[in-house]
Amino acid sequence: MPAALLTDASRRLEQAAQYAPISADATERLKFPKASLKVAIPVRMDDGSLRVFEGYRVRYDDTRGPTKGGIRFHPQVTLDEVQSLAFWMTFKCAAVNLPFGGAKGGIALNPKTLSKFELERLSRGYIDAIASFIGPDLDIPAPDVYTNPMIMGWMMDQYSIIKGKRSPAVITGKPVSMGGSLGRSTATGTGAFYVLQTMMAKYGQSPEQMTVAVQGFGNAGSVIARQLFEAGYKVVAVSDSKGGIYSSKGLHIPDIQQFKRTHHTMQAVYCKDSVCNIVEHDNLTNEELLSLDVDILIPAALENQITAENAHSIQAKYIFEVANGPVTADADIILEKKGISLFPDILVNAGGVMVSHFEWVQNRSGLYWQLDEVHSQLSSRITREAETIWQIAQKHSISFRTAAYIHALSRLSTALDDRGTRDYYKS
Ligand code: NAD
Repeated sequence: MPAALLTDASRRLEQAAQYAPISADATERLKFPKASLKVAIPVRMDDGSLRVFEGYRVRYDDTRGPTKGGIRFHPQVTLDEVQSLAFWMTFKCAAVNLPFGGAKGGIALNPKTLSKFELERLSRGYIDAIASFIGPDLDIPAPDVYTNPMIMGWMMDQYSIIKGKRSPAVITGKPVSMGGSLGRSTATGTGAFYVLQTMMAKYGQSPEQMTVAVQGFGNAGSVIARQLFEAGYKVVAVSDSKGGIYSSKGLHIPDIQQFKRTHHTMQAVYCKDSVCNIVEHDNLTNEELLSLDVDILIPAALENQITAENAHSIQAKYIFEVANGPVTADADIILEKKGISLFPDILVNAGGVMVSHFEWVQNRSGLYWQLDEVHSQLSSRITREAETIWQIAQKHSISFRTAAYIHALSRLSTALDDRGTRDYYKS
């Protein structure tokens, strides 16, 4: 029986299945992860003691290609969470037509409590434990919450040591010096920005008229906040795990990025430095940020931020899910009744995995692309899928989430059926 989070994710599948011509075999197949691995990772700490961490890797479905998905280091990582994230990756890769299935991995810990040496030993130990479960043609990890190019570099190096040959295509999101793609570190935010621009053009909205709040100022959230700022949107609130800041006049995002880089948190340091003199602001909690009266709300932190408990208080007109699964299935229903247009994670944040795909292609071909080629491929591909999802939503008068799932499910079910299902043979 799938656990709670995965059950929530599967509800999206059932909704979409009502509209897509999908076989019963395919629906049943997609309700369950193909393979789930739970490992213990012993790590020698700097003080000489031994700590054992729990790690996971889930390959959800590989019908359309090797599985693909990030690795998360976070205290709340559980098998249920990793399975749900792997489910979303399956649909995301299909929604944007990548030749990949879905996977995810994670280690339950607070990485901020480890030294850099401990973190490296943990990252290498994780690869020791899952090496036979991953591979360039089998399953290709990437960064996710609290993991970064440095960690991906250690992991690729460890995998190469185990296999006795350099294997850059086993992991994406690596440092550029180790075979990473130009543009990968900003790809999720950049892709989300392209989707947002495509959708806002449909509503005839121009940037200067729009206010925006961004929850989560990490890799994905800070990049889209910056791009919106540069395009002329008024970004009035941003937050991180410690809290947020708000200014009705709009925040100067490049300055906040600079402060965050040097001081690591936003709220604690923002007021002590000169940026306070540039723009007045108020401090606010993450809960307050979500219910601000803004045009666009961008959850870019973790899943389950907008639930049945707080969905009633959301005032934004448009929600762009940069995080994976920030809105629960119950909250979806409430938001839809309120007339809020929600653009789903499997489209909005797909820029990251798209450029990961470009990185994998570059690693395998040995020919590396210029940044403008990465951006032009990302822009044309994600915009094309966004346009199609918009049209599906209009055609059936359904939410963009259901439309995105229909789009993904059509591709997935074709691939599943072409391998042979009861319906396939009947017809
Ligand atoms: P990150 O670790 O770089 O940033 C996460 C940010 O969220 C940090 O600023 C952190 O302080 C903040 N945060 C954590 N808990 C919070 C809370 N309770 N309230 C508010 N803020 C909180 O991670 P990221 O890579 O930017 O990922 C963010 C989200 O985007 C995740 O859901 C991830 O799965 C999704 N995503 C990331 C990528 C990628 O390429 N990085 C791709 C697709 C999806």
